[in-house]
Amino acid sequence: MLGRLARKLRMLGYDVFYRAGIEDNDLKRIALRERRVLLTRDREIVETSLPIDVRLIESDDVGEQLVQVVRDLGLSAGPCSFTRCTECNEPLVRMDKEEVRDLVAPYVYRTQDAFAHCPSCGRIYWEATHVEQARQWLRDVLDGSFSEEDEPGVTNILVTGRPGVGKTTLIRRVLASLPAEAGGFYTSEIRENGRRVGFSIESTGGARGTLAHVDYRGPYRVASYGVNRDDLERVGVAALDKAVEGSELILMDEIGRMELCSEAFQAAVMRALDAATPVFGTIQAASNPFLDAVRARSDVEIIEVTTQNRDAMVAVVGRRIAGLMERE
Ligand SMILES: [Zn+2]
Repeated sequence: MLGRLARKLRMLGYDVFYRAGIEDNDLKRIALRERRVLLTRDREIVETSLPIDVRLIESDDVGEQLVQVVRDLGLSAGPCSFTRCTECNEPLVRMDKEEVRDLVAPYVYRTQDAFAHCPSCGRIYWEATHVEQARQWLRDVLDGSFSEEDEPGVTNILVTGRPGVGKTTLIRRVLASLPAEAGGFYTSEIRENGRRVGFSIESTGGARGTLAHVDYRGPYRVASYGVNRDDLERVGVAALDKAVEGSELILMDEIGRMELCSEAFQAAVMRALDAATPVFGTIQAASNPFLDAVRARSDVEIIEVTTQNRDAMVAVVGRRIAGLMERE
Protein backbone atom coordinates (compact mmCIF):
# COMPACT_ATOMS: atom_id res chain seq x y z
CA MET A 1 0.00 0.00 0.00
CA LEU A 2 3.03 2.27 0.19
CA GLY A 3 4.28 2.10 -3.39
CA ARG A 4 4.38 5.87 -3.88
CA LEU A 5 6.31 6.37 -0.64
CA ALA A 6 8.74 3.62 -1.72
CA ARG A 7 9.44 5.37 -5.02
CA LYS A 8 9.91 8.74 -3.31
CA LEU A 9 12.40 7.29 -0.85
CA ARG A 10 14.33 5.58 -3.67
CA MET A 11 14.31 8.84 -5.63
CA LEU A 12 16.06 10.34 -2.61
CA GLY A 13 18.59 7.52 -2.66
CA TYR A 14 17.30 5.21 0.10
CA ASP A 15 17.37 1.42 -0.16
CA VAL A 16 13.68 0.41 -0.15
CA PHE A 17 12.28 -3.07 -0.70
CA TYR A 18 8.70 -2.94 -1.99
CA ARG A 19 6.51 -5.48 -3.73
CA ALA A 20 2.84 -4.91 -4.43
CA GLY A 21 0.57 -7.61 -3.01
CA ILE A 22 3.26 -9.37 -0.97
CA GLU A 23 2.01 -11.62 1.88
CA ASP A 24 2.50 -10.27 5.42
CA ASN A 25 4.62 -13.26 6.43
CA ASP A 26 6.96 -12.89 3.45
CA LEU A 27 7.31 -9.20 4.21
CA LYS A 28 8.24 -9.92 7.83
CA ARG A 29 10.71 -12.62 6.78
CA ILE A 30 12.47 -10.30 4.33
CA ALA A 31 12.57 -7.46 6.87
CA LEU A 32 14.15 -9.83 9.40
CA ARG A 33 16.66 -11.37 7.01
CA GLU A 34 17.76 -8.09 5.45
CA ARG A 35 17.58 -6.17 8.75
CA ARG A 36 15.17 -3.64 7.32
CA VAL A 37 12.81 -1.29 9.11
CA LEU A 38 9.29 -2.41 8.20
CA LEU A 39 6.97 0.46 7.22
CA THR A 40 3.29 -0.46 7.16
CA ARG A 41 -0.21 1.01 7.17
CA ASP A 42 -1.42 -2.25 8.80
CA ARG A 43 -1.99 -1.93 12.56
CA GLU A 44 -2.12 -5.72 12.93
CA ILE A 45 1.47 -6.10 11.78
CA VAL A 46 2.57 -3.43 14.23
CA GLU A 47 0.81 -5.19 17.08
CA THR A 48 2.45 -8.58 16.44
CA SER A 49 5.55 -8.89 18.53
CA LEU A 50 8.48 -9.12 16.14
CA PRO A 51 12.25 -8.94 16.51
CA ILE A 52 12.27 -6.20 13.89
CA ASP A 53 11.67 -2.46 13.92
CA VAL A 54 8.11 -1.91 12.67
CA ARG A 55 6.67 1.58 12.11
CA LEU A 56 3.02 2.33 11.57
CA ILE A 57 2.60 4.93 8.83
CA GLU A 58 -0.18 7.21 10.02
CA SER A 59 -1.24 9.16 6.96
CA ASP A 60 -2.71 8.37 3.55
CA ASP A 61 -0.91 11.36 2.13
CA VAL A 62 2.48 10.57 0.61
CA GLY A 63 3.95 13.94 1.69
CA GLU A 64 2.96 13.40 5.30
CA GLN A 65 4.22 9.82 5.08
CA LEU A 66 7.62 11.03 4.00
CA VAL A 67 7.78 13.64 6.74
CA GLN A 68 6.95 10.92 9.29
CA VAL A 69 9.60 8.50 7.98
CA VAL A 70 12.30 11.16 7.80
CA ARG A 71 11.52 12.31 11.36
CA ASP A 72 10.89 8.90 12.97
CA LEU A 73 13.99 7.29 11.52
CA GLY A 74 16.13 10.39 11.84
CA LEU A 75 17.10 10.21 8.17
CA SER A 76 19.65 12.79 7.21
CA ALA A 77 20.11 14.57 3.94
CA GLY A 78 23.15 12.35 3.41
CA PRO A 79 22.09 10.07 0.59
CA CYS A 80 21.68 11.98 -2.58
CA SER A 81 19.08 11.31 -5.20
CA PHE A 82 19.93 9.88 -8.58
CA THR A 83 21.64 6.80 -7.12
CA ARG A 84 18.90 4.18 -7.24
CA CYS A 85 16.29 2.94 -9.73
CA THR A 86 12.90 4.14 -8.47
CA GLU A 87 11.22 1.05 -9.94
CA CYS A 88 13.68 -1.76 -9.02
CA ASN A 89 15.64 -0.28 -6.08
CA GLU A 90 18.82 -1.31 -7.94
CA PRO A 91 21.80 1.06 -7.50
CA LEU A 92 22.32 3.02 -10.72
CA VAL A 93 25.48 2.70 -12.77
CA ARG A 94 26.93 5.93 -14.15
CA MET A 95 27.33 6.24 -17.91
CA ASP A 96 29.48 8.50 -20.00
CA LYS A 97 27.55 11.03 -22.00
CA GLU A 98 28.92 9.49 -25.20
CA GLU A 99 27.41 6.08 -24.30
CA VAL A 100 23.87 7.42 -24.22
CA ARG A 101 24.00 9.39 -27.45
CA ASP A 102 21.72 6.95 -29.32
CA LEU A 103 19.72 5.88 -26.27
CA VAL A 104 18.08 9.15 -25.26
CA ALA A 105 16.24 11.86 -27.14
CA PRO A 106 18.49 14.47 -28.81
CA TYR A 107 16.94 17.15 -26.60
CA VAL A 108 17.88 15.24 -23.45
CA TYR A 109 21.35 14.48 -24.79
CA ARG A 110 21.95 18.13 -25.53
CA THR A 111 20.69 19.54 -22.22
CA GLN A 112 21.88 16.92 -19.70
CA ASP A 113 25.38 15.91 -18.66
CA ALA A 114 25.00 13.29 -15.93
CA PHE A 115 23.52 9.94 -16.97
CA ALA A 116 23.12 6.56 -15.31
CA HIS A 117 21.27 3.34 -16.04
CA CYS A 118 19.59 0.62 -13.98
CA PRO A 119 21.39 -2.71 -14.54
CA SER A 120 18.18 -4.57 -13.74
CA CYS A 121 15.49 -2.96 -15.93
CA GLY A 122 17.70 -0.90 -18.25
CA ARG A 123 15.97 2.43 -17.58
CA ILE A 124 18.19 5.42 -18.24
CA TYR A 125 18.17 8.26 -15.74
CA TRP A 126 19.46 11.80 -16.04
CA GLU A 127 19.70 14.62 -13.58
CA ALA A 128 16.71 16.50 -14.87
CA THR A 129 14.85 19.27 -13.16
CA HIS A 130 12.62 16.92 -11.19
CA VAL A 131 15.65 15.37 -9.47
CA GLU A 132 16.71 18.84 -8.35
CA GLN A 133 13.18 19.39 -7.11
CA ALA A 134 13.33 16.12 -5.15
CA ARG A 135 16.48 17.30 -3.38
CA GLN A 136 14.86 20.63 -2.50
CA TRP A 137 11.83 18.74 -1.29
CA LEU A 138 13.93 16.61 1.08
CA ARG A 139 15.70 19.70 2.41
CA ASP A 140 12.30 21.28 3.11
CA VAL A 141 11.10 18.13 4.91
CA LEU A 142 14.23 18.11 7.06
CA ASP A 143 14.05 21.74 8.08
CA GLY A 144 10.29 21.62 8.69
CA SER A 145 9.21 23.99 5.95
CA PHE A 146 7.73 21.24 3.80
CA SER A 147 4.11 21.51 2.79
CA GLU A 148 2.10 19.41 0.39
CA GLU A 149 1.84 22.29 -2.06
CA ASP A 150 5.60 22.24 -2.60
CA GLU A 151 5.47 18.83 -4.19
CA PRO A 152 5.93 19.18 -7.93
CA GLY A 153 2.53 18.15 -9.22
CA VAL A 154 0.94 17.20 -12.49
CA THR A 155 0.41 20.15 -14.83
CA ASN A 156 0.03 18.26 -18.11
CA ILE A 157 -2.37 15.55 -19.24
CA LEU A 158 -1.70 13.29 -22.21
CA VAL A 159 -4.14 10.72 -23.50
CA THR A 160 -2.82 7.48 -24.92
CA GLY A 161 -4.35 4.34 -26.42
CA ARG A 162 -4.36 2.08 -29.47
CA PRO A 163 -4.55 3.73 -32.91
CA GLY A 164 -8.17 4.33 -33.87
CA VAL A 165 -9.51 4.09 -30.33
CA GLY A 166 -10.76 7.69 -30.43
CA LYS A 167 -8.08 9.79 -28.75
CA THR A 168 -8.64 12.82 -30.96
CA THR A 169 -12.42 12.52 -30.62
CA LEU A 170 -11.99 12.51 -26.85
CA ILE A 171 -9.79 15.61 -27.03
CA ARG A 172 -12.31 17.46 -29.21
CA ARG A 173 -15.24 16.54 -26.96
CA VAL A 174 -13.36 17.65 -23.84
CA LEU A 175 -12.33 20.95 -25.46
CA ALA A 176 -15.92 21.59 -26.55
CA SER A 177 -16.99 21.24 -22.90
CA LEU A 178 -14.47 23.80 -21.63
CA PRO A 179 -14.97 27.56 -21.62
CA ALA A 180 -11.31 28.17 -22.55
CA GLU A 181 -9.64 28.71 -25.90
CA ALA A 182 -6.83 26.22 -26.45
CA GLY A 183 -3.81 27.00 -28.63
CA GLY A 184 -1.65 24.41 -30.37
CA PHE A 185 -2.02 21.88 -33.16
CA TYR A 186 -3.99 18.87 -34.39
CA THR A 187 -2.93 16.17 -36.77
CA SER A 188 -5.39 14.20 -38.88
CA GLU A 189 -5.39 11.54 -41.56
CA ILE A 190 -5.30 12.36 -45.25
CA ARG A 191 -7.41 9.82 -47.11
CA GLU A 192 -7.71 9.16 -50.82
CA ASN A 193 -10.24 6.67 -52.19
CA GLY A 194 -10.81 5.30 -48.71
CA ARG A 195 -7.11 4.68 -48.17
CA ARG A 196 -4.90 6.52 -45.70
CA VAL A 197 -2.10 8.21 -47.62
CA GLY A 198 -0.71 10.59 -45.02
CA PHE A 199 -1.26 12.99 -42.16
CA SER A 200 -1.88 16.69 -42.08
CA ILE A 201 -0.97 19.10 -39.32
CA GLU A 202 -3.08 22.12 -38.52
CA SER A 203 -2.67 24.85 -35.94
CA THR A 204 -5.58 26.28 -33.96
CA GLY A 205 -4.70 29.57 -35.67
CA GLY A 206 -5.46 28.05 -39.08
CA ALA A 207 -1.96 27.28 -40.46
CA ARG A 208 -1.90 23.98 -42.36
CA GLY A 209 0.77 21.63 -43.55
CA THR A 210 1.42 18.06 -44.60
CA LEU A 211 3.07 16.15 -41.77
CA ALA A 212 3.66 12.97 -43.76
CA HIS A 213 2.62 11.42 -47.06
CA VAL A 214 3.28 8.21 -48.97
CA ASP A 215 4.35 10.27 -51.98
CA TYR A 216 6.65 12.55 -50.02
CA ARG A 217 10.32 11.89 -50.72
CA GLY A 218 12.77 12.94 -48.06
CA PRO A 219 15.32 11.61 -45.63
CA TYR A 220 12.82 11.03 -42.81
CA ARG A 221 10.61 8.00 -43.13
CA VAL A 222 8.18 6.34 -40.73
CA ALA A 223 6.65 3.11 -42.02
CA SER A 224 5.54 3.89 -45.60
CA TYR A 225 5.38 7.66 -45.05
CA GLY A 226 7.90 10.34 -45.81
CA VAL A 227 7.88 12.90 -43.01
CA ASN A 228 7.81 16.56 -43.98
CA ARG A 229 10.03 18.11 -41.36
CA ASP A 230 9.65 21.62 -42.74
CA ASP A 231 5.87 21.60 -42.31
CA LEU A 232 6.15 19.99 -38.88
CA GLU A 233 8.36 22.86 -37.76
CA ARG A 234 6.57 25.63 -39.65
CA VAL A 235 3.14 24.67 -38.27
CA GLY A 236 3.84 22.61 -35.12
CA VAL A 237 6.73 24.49 -33.51
CA ALA A 238 5.17 27.88 -34.25
CA ALA A 239 1.79 26.78 -32.85
CA LEU A 240 3.31 25.47 -29.61
CA ASP A 241 5.45 28.56 -29.03
CA LYS A 242 2.50 30.85 -29.67
CA ALA A 243 0.35 28.81 -27.26
CA VAL A 244 3.02 29.00 -24.53
CA GLU A 245 2.97 32.78 -24.91
CA GLY A 246 -0.72 33.46 -24.86
CA SER A 247 -3.11 30.53 -24.43
CA GLU A 248 -4.91 29.26 -21.33
CA LEU A 249 -4.41 25.68 -22.45
CA ILE A 250 -1.81 24.16 -24.80
CA LEU A 251 -3.03 21.55 -27.25
CA MET A 252 -0.78 18.90 -28.82
CA ASP A 253 -2.52 16.21 -30.82
CA GLU A 254 -0.51 14.15 -31.26
CA ILE A 255 3.10 13.44 -30.40
CA GLY A 256 4.52 10.22 -31.79
CA ARG A 257 7.10 8.63 -34.05
CA MET A 258 6.96 11.23 -36.83
CA GLU A 259 8.08 13.97 -34.46
CA LEU A 260 11.40 12.23 -33.76
CA CYS A 261 12.84 13.68 -36.96
CA SER A 262 12.82 17.24 -35.59
CA GLU A 263 14.91 18.32 -32.66
CA ALA A 264 13.29 21.75 -32.84
CA PHE A 265 9.88 20.17 -32.46
CA GLN A 266 10.99 18.04 -29.50
CA ALA A 267 12.42 21.12 -27.80
CA ALA A 268 9.15 23.00 -28.38
CA VAL A 269 7.20 20.11 -26.78
CA MET A 270 9.50 20.22 -23.73
CA ARG A 271 9.13 24.03 -23.48
CA ALA A 272 5.34 23.63 -23.53
CA LEU A 273 5.47 20.93 -20.82
CA ASP A 274 7.78 23.13 -18.70
CA ALA A 275 5.43 26.11 -18.97
CA ALA A 276 2.97 26.91 -16.17
CA THR A 277 0.14 26.69 -18.71
CA PRO A 278 -1.34 23.17 -18.70
CA VAL A 279 -0.83 20.94 -21.75
CA PHE A 280 -3.62 18.68 -23.01
CA GLY A 281 -2.78 16.28 -25.78
CA THR A 282 -2.32 12.77 -27.07
CA ILE A 283 0.77 10.61 -27.12
CA GLN A 284 1.38 7.41 -29.08
CA ALA A 285 1.75 4.26 -27.00
CA ALA A 286 5.00 3.40 -28.86
CA SER A 287 8.29 3.44 -27.02
CA ASN A 288 11.13 5.61 -28.26
CA PRO A 289 13.60 7.83 -26.41
CA PHE A 290 11.61 11.02 -26.89
CA LEU A 291 8.19 9.60 -25.97
CA ASP A 292 9.73 7.75 -23.00
CA ALA A 293 11.26 11.02 -21.76
CA VAL A 294 7.88 12.75 -21.99
CA ARG A 295 6.13 9.92 -20.15
CA ALA A 296 8.82 9.84 -17.43
CA ARG A 297 8.21 13.46 -16.42
CA SER A 298 6.68 13.86 -12.97
CA ASP A 299 4.52 16.73 -14.25
CA VAL A 300 2.88 14.55 -16.93
CA GLU A 301 -0.10 12.32 -16.25
CA ILE A 302 -0.88 9.69 -18.86
CA ILE A 303 -4.51 8.66 -19.23
CA GLU A 304 -5.29 5.54 -21.22
CA VAL A 305 -8.41 5.57 -23.36
CA THR A 306 -10.08 2.32 -24.41
CA THR A 307 -13.27 1.51 -26.32
CA GLN A 308 -14.84 0.68 -22.93
CA ASN A 309 -13.98 3.92 -21.12
CA ARG A 310 -13.87 6.51 -23.92
CA ASP A 311 -17.36 7.95 -23.34
CA ALA A 312 -17.06 8.09 -19.57
CA MET A 313 -13.60 9.68 -19.90
CA VAL A 314 -14.96 12.89 -21.49
CA ALA A 315 -16.36 14.09 -18.15
CA VAL A 316 -13.45 12.69 -16.09
CA VAL A 317 -10.73 14.27 -18.23
CA GLY A 318 -12.76 17.48 -18.57
CA ARG A 319 -12.82 17.89 -14.78
CA ARG A 320 -9.07 17.19 -14.52
CA ILE A 321 -8.25 19.81 -17.14
CA ALA A 322 -10.60 22.37 -15.62
CA GLY A 323 -8.91 21.75 -12.24
CA LEU A 324 -5.44 22.30 -13.72
CA MET A 325 -6.54 25.54 -15.37
CA GLU A 326 -7.99 26.88 -12.12
CA ARG A 327 -4.80 26.07 -10.23
CA GLU A 328 -2.70 27.91 -12.72
ZN1 LIG B 1 15.34 -0.57 -12.67
